[in-house]
Amino acid sequence: MRGSGKKKEAGGNGSNEESTDEEALSNVTKQKVAAAKQYIENHYKEQMKNLQERRERRNILEKKLADADVSEEDQNNLLKFLEKKETEYMRLQRHKMGADDFELLTMIGKGAFGEVRVCREKTTGHVYAMKKLKKSEMLRRGQVEHVRAERNLLAEVDSNCIVKLYCSFQDDEFLYLIMEYLPGGDMMTLLMRKDTLTEDEARFYVAETVLAIESIHKHHYIHRDIKPDNLLLDKYGHLRLSDFGLCKPLDCSTLQEQDFTIGNNLNGSSQNNERPAAPKRTQQEQLQHWQKNRRMLAYSTVGTPDYIAPEVLLKKGYGMECDWWSLGAIMYEMLVGYPPFYSDDPMSTCRKIVNWRTHLKFPEEAKLSIEAKDLISKLLCNVNQRLGAKGADEIKVHPWFDGVDWARIYQMEAAFIPEVNDELDTQNFEKFEEVQLC
Ligand code: ADP
Ligand code: MG
Repeated sequence: MRGSGKKKEAGGNGSNEESTDEEALSNVTKQKVAAAKQYIENHYKEQMKNLQERRERRNILEKKLADADVSEEDQNNLLKFLEKKETEYMRLQRHKMGADDFELLTMIGKGAFGEVRVCREKTTGHVYAMKKLKKSEMLRRGQVEHVRAERNLLAEVDSNCIVKLYCSFQDDEFLYLIMEYLPGGDMMTLLMRKDTLTEDEARFYVAETVLAIESIHKHHYIHRDIKPDNLLLDKYGHLRLSDFGLCKPLDCSTLQEQDFTIGNNLNGSSQNNERPAAPKRTQQEQLQHWQKNRRMLAYSTVGTPDYIAPEVLLKKGYGMECDWWSLGAIMYEMLVGYPPFYSDDPMSTCRKIVNWRTHLKFPEEAKLSIEAKDLISKLLCNVNQRLGAKGADEIKVHPWFDGVDWARIYQMEAAFIPEVNDELDTQNFEKFEEVQLC
């Protein structure tokens, strides 16, 4: 009311100056209107796209359920579960989240860039895992692109085998990823607690890892850093892949020039020269040595190179095959107790990986089946011969997997069912000391 009164007053003066003013004003208004229109259109377009994708996801699940042998009640429950997840996801997307919206609880992971904590959303009480990454550290290491890739992949790929990302946001210092909390722990911790797995137990985890790798490859992502610490377990003990693109940068450019050439030369001469001080250990001794060093390696800034493919280390240019190499190294560790090229220091590990032909050995004591050795040897080999180079099916039909029901493995009982007492239970993770990040 007051506004219209003012306008009337001003209108009484009727000068030229004022009409240009009015013109300018109307131009600004026009621009504002156009911007608002654009915003609304974009917003609706985005919403339509989301709705369409949501409908597609429902259709896919409905089709899958119709094909599967599932009772009507279970079908309805699964569809309801999907709807709940979708609504939850939309809600988080709509609301502009910030770190203050979460209560930070137990620390469950610590990496080169920051930390991972269980947290609780204050308004809903829902539990998530928050990964907090220090931006300056990422910039310093030129990892920004990798982090972006991680966020995109986690958000884009809706798969059973991949950790779900709910939202991401940032402040001046940190980037935050809010993910589902997987209370079963990670494979590194499981392997340290169990020493070795039986072939049946390993088969379950290796098979689920095959499906996880297959699903990211289908979206044209290469993980490049698949290792036990990045294989997480949900409360039922099923495996999910996480930590995309955030590989700890092991600087191989210097390695390549100095160490690999020396390694290669030595390889050509005498084998004894190659590991001058490395004592010959039994499987048990090697396992103890590995376990003593494992966590230190995992949390160090360079990370462990034990699972990295030779072509990645040599920066030769690499493709999806490098993830299948890592699978071979993990399978070896599950059955033998330590990874195939483990050495006292990371540099010698790198050298051994590059010279894998002379270093890949299966200890007698580990008593691996012929099929297991065959599969590992077909994964830990040259890119051209590597199984998986022509797709995951090549791996799935290997005799070591005989009897695996690939379509139903995620519905079956896991090799180990983790003990999880409540939604905040962190007993399957290591305990971390609380130190202020600086
Ligand atoms: P980094 O880049 O430091 O390796 P990760 O994403 O691999 O970071 O997280 C480090 C550790 O934190 C993992 O090995 C795992 O133990 C734990 N962790 C990460 N994300 C989750 C999650 N969503 N649920 C449960 N634990 C997690
Ligand atoms: Mg990790």
